[in-house]
Amino acid sequence: MALDAAGRGYSVVLLEKKDIGAGTTSRTSRMAHGGLRYLEYGAFGLVRESLRERDILCHRAPDLVRKRDFFLPDAAHGRLPILIGTGLFLYDLLALSRDSHRAKNGFFYRDAICVPEPLAARTAGAAIRHGAEIRLREGVVRIETNGDVVSRSGERFRPRVIVLALGPWVDRFLEGTGLPFPKPLLNPSRGAHLFFRKKIDRPVLLQAKRDGRVFFGVPCLGGTLVGTTDIEDRSDPDRVFPTEEEKDYLWTEWRHRFPEWEERPFGAWAGLRPLVNEGKDVSARTREERIVIHPRVENLVVIVGGKLTTARAIAEKTLRLLERRYFKRRSADWTREERLTIEDARRLPHRGIADILLRRTAVGFYDDPEKERETLREWGISVEGQAELLEREYHSYFEERYRDFGIPPRKNSGFFPEKMMRND
Ligand SMILES: Cc1cc2nc3c(=O)[nH]c(=O)nc-3n(C[C@H](O)[C@H](O)[C@H](O)COP(=O)(O)OP(=O)(O)OC[C@H]3O[C@@H](n4cnc5c(N)ncnc54)[C@H](O)[C@@H]3O)c2cc1C
Repeated sequence: MALDAAGRGYSVVLLEKKDIGAGTTSRTSRMAHGGLRYLEYGAFGLVRESLRERDILCHRAPDLVRKRDFFLPDAAHGRLPILIGTGLFLYDLLALSRDSHRAKNGFFYRDAICVPEPLAARTAGAAIRHGAEIRLREGVVRIETNGDVVSRSGERFRPRVIVLALGPWVDRFLEGTGLPFPKPLLNPSRGAHLFFRKKIDRPVLLQAKRDGRVFFGVPCLGGTLVGTTDIEDRSDPDRVFPTEEEKDYLWTEWRHRFPEWEERPFGAWAGLRPLVNEGKDVSARTREERIVIHPRVENLVVIVGGKLTTARAIAEKTLRLLERRYFKRRSADWTREERLTIEDARRLPHRGIADILLRRTAVGFYDDPEKERETLREWGISVEGQAELLEREYHSYFEERYRDFGIPPRKNSGFFPEKMMRND
């Protein structure tokens, strides 16, 4: 939003309470994808839009968003191959491509894997390049009915329009500021992931034996990310953790599909999906967004829901609405071709590499953040570091910290119960 608005010539201030990309964006399944499973719910518009946005992202940040062939093994899906083949044909049709094909024991189809945190950082940095002001660790504490915004440091802003893009925080924030909607905007669902240090060769899409849910394994950060679950959860987005049941569910299902997989899960994390409150069953809810105007504050616009993949399109739609309603003009859409480069990430204000590394990865491989910070200090990752170093470190963060720094693998730190730390 900040990038698109600044590029259209508006004066933009972005207030972020933590760091860019530190929220749900750091908890995603790391796919820029159409969402194959949403075809079952008839969400053709969303799938089409997401596939188009996937391709745009591959073009804007080719080093962070890459297409890969995903494997759908026959044995892991309760559907007839002809049905899967038809679904993939439709997916290709919506993608305007012919990528899927039959293999020996299953199907291949195409989607993209992405690295969300640097992608978010580059987008914010590009907004700065276009004139936006970005303040980190400077959240909004209050919005008043006259449309004034008060930030954490006590500064008061009087913007023409306020856009709230708070992911799963939105209802809590509105309630806290005394401006709740008549019914909650979101019905969030928690999604947990397991992380393994062992890497799979290619992404796989599987179906859980226990309940038929779709889950996947993708190569990620030098290892494998396995997820997710989908459980309604209205708890504080600042405190979302996977439960033992979720970890056990993913681990059991993964081992069921890969009985020869010996490595134990190495880490786990969870996030809240900002799903629009529309009363459907949690798995049936698709990831479409709503852009709503507050009933009592005329200049307060709220973005509800959406996907990481569709963020650019959501910003475009929001700006069209803002221009129509508040600015009475129509400027040209322009972000499709805008490249997002490492130089952009460098423009972001930050206190130091260690700080940002912690916030942007936010996976809590150590239970104790102080211990994590200490380790980074020991590694000599200095406060004066550059964004380039950040990205390099980030990409190889998990691999390097074990391989090159000789840190022994953790013993059971309580993150996983004893039974999950064993190979049985
Ligand atoms: C488990 C899981 C898997 C997912 N997988 C995918 C996927 O593979 N592909 C995909 O496209 N999408 C995926 N999504 C969806 C995607 O992650 C989200 O839609 C997207 O990240 C939302 O981005 P956002 O910027 O709206 O929200 P967030 O990333 O949550 O950002 C909201 C920001 O608001 C800040 N904030 C909160 N309160 C305040 C305040 N008072 N003042 C200032 N700032 C504040 C937070 O610090 C945060 O940085 C997944 C989501 C989950 C939970």
